Amino acid sequence: MKSKYDKNNVFAKILRSEIPCNKILENDSALAFSDINPQAPIHVLVIPKNAYVSFYDFTNNADSREVELFWRLVNDVILKENIHGKGFRLITNSGDHGNQDVPHFHIHILGGKNLGRMIN
Ligand code: 5GP
Repeated sequence: MKSKYDKNNVFAKILRSEIPCNKILENDSALAFSDINPQAPIHVLVIPKNAYVSFYDFTNNADSREVELFWRLVNDVILKENIHGKGFRLITNSGDHGNQDVPHFHIHILGGKNLGRMIN
C-alpha cells in the first residue's frame, strides 16, 4: 500500500524550485543538497525526485532503476565530499518512532568529524 504523500512538504518545494537549496549533486532520479541545519561539518541530504513518504514507501514502490540511481547518488556524494576514507554515518528517520520531520524520503549523510555514539 502506498502512503499518502503531502505535496506541500519542504522537499517537494525544493524539487519544484519553489525554495532554494545548496545543490551538491543530482542524477535522473535523485537530488543531493546541504541540510539547512547541519549536525556535522558535512551534512548532506539525498532525496528521490519522485514522491515517496519514507524509506518503506520508497523501497517497496520505486522501480529498480530508481532505487539504483538513488543509492548511486548517495555513493557519489560520499566520494565528492571525500569522507569515504575517514568514515561517515547514514541515517534515515521514518515515521513517528523515527522522529521524521519532513515526509519525503531522505537519507542524511553525516561526516567530517567523529560523530560519537549513535544514540545518546
Ligand atoms: P528528518 O527529521 O525529517 O529526518 O530531517 C529533516 C531535515 O531537513 C532536518 O535535518 C532539517 O534541518 C532539514 N530541513 C528542513 N527544512 C529544510 C529546508 O528548507 N532546506 C534544507 N536544505 N533542509 C531542510
